[in-house]
Amino acid sequence: MKRVVEIGEMDRRSVLHPFTYLKDYAEGASAPTIVETGKGVRIKDASGREYIDGFAGLYCVNVGYGRTEVAEAIARQAYKLAYYHSYAAHTTEELARLSDRLVKMAPGRMSKVFFGLSGSDANETQAKIVWYYNNLRGKPAKKKIIARERGYHGCSVVSGSMTGLSFYHDHMDLPVAGILRTGVPHHYRGALPGETEEAFSERRANELEALILAEGPETVAALIAEPVLGTGGIIPPPSGYWPRIQAVLKKYDVLLIADEVICGFGRTGAMFGSDLYGMVPDLVTVAKGLTSAYVPLSASIVSEQVYEVMQEATPQVGAFSHGYTYSGHPIGVAAANAVLDIVERDDLPGQAAKKGAYLLGRLNAEFEQNPIVGEVRGVGMMAAVEFVPDRGSKVPFSPALKVGARISQAARNRNLIARAMPHGDILGFAPPLTMSEAEIDEMVFIAKAAVDEVL
Ligand code: PLP
Repeated sequence: MKRVVEIGEMDRRSVLHPFTYLKDYAEGASAPTIVETGKGVRIKDASGREYIDGFAGLYCVNVGYGRTEVAEAIARQAYKLAYYHSYAAHTTEELARLSDRLVKMAPGRMSKVFFGLSGSDANETQAKIVWYYNNLRGKPAKKKIIARERGYHGCSVVSGSMTGLSFYHDHMDLPVAGILRTGVPHHYRGALPGETEEAFSERRANELEALILAEGPETVAALIAEPVLGTGGIIPPPSGYWPRIQAVLKKYDVLLIADEVICGFGRTGAMFGSDLYGMVPDLVTVAKGLTSAYVPLSASIVSEQVYEVMQEATPQVGAFSHGYTYSGHPIGVAAANAVLDIVERDDLPGQAAKKGAYLLGRLNAEFEQNPIVGEVRGVGMMAAVEFVPDRGSKVPFSPALKVGARISQAARNRNLIARAMPHGDILGFAPPLTMSEAEIDEMVFIAKAAVDEVL
């Protein structure tokens, strides 16, 4: 107990925590959770309390906690060669193997992989590659990047600007110039009365086309989008959405950046979200599930078409002048190879499809008839329940009531981590893909008790 108090005091004194109410924490109104161990789908805190992790950390520990084969791969690489850089064509066997593997696995016709450490920096890299590509092919005005309302692409300067949730911008001088916004494809909230999913998708595609035409196609470089919108509310696309959006992009020579940071490596029930929806991206961003978060690693995967332009420009522009000390870090890539071995050997995408259907069925069974549940939605092992005071009008609860946060807290008091999504009153589920049906039952049972307690 003394140790727990000491850690807490030290933490309160010294750590600047992300997404934390600073004054509340500093003044003791909220307490730290000291997370100590993880095994399977559960984590344990320093007081010995165990939680079922219905959100896989931050939708990232896809293979579950405590996998010895991943820990051993990390240790083996640390003993053998903890670090060397990948500048000027230095490499390691694990780096070459992982890149080859990703080029073959990824959607679209991919050519090369650039490694970073987070989804944010990988999307920052994608923006730079898009700008570089258009400079190199003599289109210096074609630079604007379209992102979607409620899309989440990270927190760094450009990725944070592409993120379409305003509280990530407020007081931080974001977004920077050159980022355009198009509508979120949420049929439940955005459709007109009686509008079918197909018709709604058509309208969203028409809006995208109108935006490109209004800005001038010669100024618009790319659209960045998550195949299934994640942090903005776990929103699978309505039917017909992606084919229509891609037709517009193709028409105006606008690149598609598929942000697969959450969707990649099985979460949607396919290896990539793009595979599920027939997307053919020009650039693909992955992170999270790439190493199941055992160590930080991200990748920006570049298509043949884009890479070709970069390579051919070498005589004029010299070296590709972008890179991090830790690009292709040997321990990161070794962890990724060990994780992808599990993903492929155990068919985690197939498991996610099957267990995701079970999860959605269980959520529907418990919540569909509940008068304060507006929508139960999901695909693969990502699902959400959206709460409204009145199903008919769909008008949201007053934010002051903090309904989503209170339900999430009530779940937590019952040892379940289910995330209150940052926009609206939405409870999100994105457990490890290895979660069993019995554990899904346990999770949904607790979530229902939490909802009954709050509403
Ligand atoms: N892109 C998507 C779709 C994400 O969900 C996230 C993080 O949640 C990011 C990018 C940013 O990744 P990171 O937090 O590793 O910077």
